[in-house]
Amino acid sequence: MNPFVYKNGALHAEDVAVADIASAVGTPFYCYSTAGLVQRYTDFANAFSHNRATICYAVKANGNLAVIRTLAALGAGADVVSEGELRRALAAGTPTDRIVFSGVGKSRAELAYALTQGIVQINVESEPELEALSETCVALDKTASIGVRVNPDVDAQTHAKISTGKAENKFGIDITRAPAVFARARDLPGVNPVSVAVHIGSQITDLTPLRIAFGHLASLVDRLRADGHNITRLDLGGGLGIRYEDETPPTPAEYAAMVNETLGHLDCHLMFEPGRVLVGEAGILVTSVLYDKPGESRRFVIVDAAMNDLVRPSMYDAYHGVLPIRETSSDIMLSDADIVGPVCETGDTFARHRAMPPVDPGDMLAILSAGAYGAVMSSTYNARLLIPEVLVNGDAFAVVRARPSYDELLKLDQFADWQ
Ligand SMILES: *Cc1c(COP(=O)(O)O)cnc(C)c1O
Repeated sequence: MNPFVYKNGALHAEDVAVADIASAVGTPFYCYSTAGLVQRYTDFANAFSHNRATICYAVKANGNLAVIRTLAALGAGADVVSEGELRRALAAGTPTDRIVFSGVGKSRAELAYALTQGIVQINVESEPELEALSETCVALDKTASIGVRVNPDVDAQTHAKISTGKAENKFGIDITRAPAVFARARDLPGVNPVSVAVHIGSQITDLTPLRIAFGHLASLVDRLRADGHNITRLDLGGGLGIRYEDETPPTPAEYAAMVNETLGHLDCHLMFEPGRVLVGEAGILVTSVLYDKPGESRRFVIVDAAMNDLVRPSMYDAYHGVLPIRETSSDIMLSDADIVGPVCETGDTFARHRAMPPVDPGDMLAILSAGAYGAVMSSTYNARLLIPEVLVNGDAFAVVRARPSYDELLKLDQFADWQ
């Protein structure tokens, strides 16, 4: 189900005309669909309905409180990678017994905060971090169930900047070191190693690398159990890809079949950390055309959103589909155009060589599949305001993050006392 479809020639988000939201909040803005979130979460959860499993939504994909709450209400936990994300998950109502803390560099202050909240699991990614966590546990008189994130040295075959499972990547502990690290963890006070965690990358569209990684994981668990460790959980990370252009990512059911094939015999409680696959296709970025600029060699459609609002095209060379809010009738001539933002960087380009109808200033476009790694990666570069986020549910919509004012933006700075 795609929640963003034309009805009577006008793009809708569920039952709301996108143009009506634009009238209320102005452009640019992000628009998320509750039905889209529910559908994606339900598909994923149903695939594992016969497993003991916790689905910990990776908050970094979209940290809006209303999005987290929508998923939490369906039973999702949270995978967080900072104290800020942990606070977001808690504020949105995620139960602590479904929150796992991942990340390659958690400070002692962040670990202490997580321990006082009593979340279900902390994943350590290095031996010094393991020592720091143990010391923090002792100081606070707490015991933490921990996972050790291993690096299986598998190429996820995705964009280099979101590939995390190769030995040269900064993530996890070399899988060959894992038995020694578990032995060390067993001897340390305050930490109880119960889980092995793995996450090899994002936007993975082929199950093969995941299958290889999980195979390594299964061998490791056998070895750890032979060493006397009580491994009761596996944290399989996130990474499932979505369709941006013409990808055919595995379905949750296909993914689940592979998981059960490779790891089912271990009889562990499974934890998943899906991000993109739950929220990516449930969001669009709506922007208005400022100018249609014909060039000698290129046509540029200049829009009011920019790379600071959605950085994926410039950061990851990512493809995003673009649809006019007003449906293009079939007799209209299309011509090749680049869709660009106003920021003073050539990288501020959303799309190249798209067949676009003629557009007038004020016409609106939707940039598709913008629900993941969109708003969360935005900045105020060029002193542009963060853009609003809107959540649609059936025929209702609500602003779930308002556009700040220029006063608020300027107030973040202050003068030094000698000025
Ligand atoms: C980023 C991340 C995820 C989520 O990845 P997706 O590709 O969005 O599913 C899950 N776990 C960890 C540890 C991560 O760093």
